[in-house]
Amino acid sequence: MQLHCLGTAGYHPNEDRHTSCYFLPESGIVLDAGTGLFRLAELIATPTLDILLSHAHLDHVAGLTFLLDVLYRRPVDRLRIWGEKDKLAAIQRHLFSDLLFPVPIQAEYREIDALPEFTIGDCTIRWRRQQHPGMSVGYRLDWDDGTRLLYLTDTTGDDGVEAMEWNAGADLLMHECYFPDASSEWATKTGHTWSSRLARIAQGSAPKHLMLTHVNPIDAEPELMLREVSETLRGRQTRVSLAADREVVEFGR
Ligand SMILES: [Zn+2]
Ligand SMILES: [Zn+2]
Repeated sequence: MQLHCLGTAGYHPNEDRHTSCYFLPESGIVLDAGTGLFRLAELIATPTLDILLSHAHLDHVAGLTFLLDVLYRRPVDRLRIWGEKDKLAAIQRHLFSDLLFPVPIQAEYREIDALPEFTIGDCTIRWRRQQHPGMSVGYRLDWDDGTRLLYLTDTTGDDGVEAMEWNAGADLLMHECYFPDASSEWATKTGHTWSSRLARIAQGSAPKHLMLTHVNPIDAEPELMLREVSETLRGRQTRVSLAADREVVEFGR
């Protein structure tokens, strides 16, 4: 299975990173719709597209307005946008207000609130609420061949027992890391994860591959977080990496 990293920053783009957007071309599934979504068109390989939104902060939804161009270049038979009811309503009311963006996008909005799980092709999706200003959801994707992906972003990070059980067995754990340990007090203030919190989550979850995502765009040295997390996980079976824009990650079967 392939994951394309279209945008790996939080908050705002910088010279190296667009904001959060990831694509699974074999399933036509997009994880969040940040500014990196402009890179999507040439990668679409299925007749349908499904976008899973963690929440509605702008760095995760601004790219929805780019769909007009993406779908002009690469039309699909069906586009669905999945997320919590209040977030989908805010997007339709505010982001697609005709004063902000005057052209409607042809999409089906699917509320997940009453759906503890749902399927997209051969992938079963489950989700879980996370601590973050306005709350966010983390997604767990299970394909019929046994491949498991977790996408946990915009959260202070949950290292409790229940979360560790929910996270277990991942081929790829994508988890935000926004601050090195020296700035951990900012992480709790802003609802984000810092290095040692993420390392504890990875220790308890034991994924095959942990990828740090949603990088702080004003952090001059994001590799410091990678070093801090890797140091704690040294000697374990988990491979640790820092997501990069336009990187293609292979995982699962
Ligand atoms: Zn964010
Ligand atoms: Zn957020």
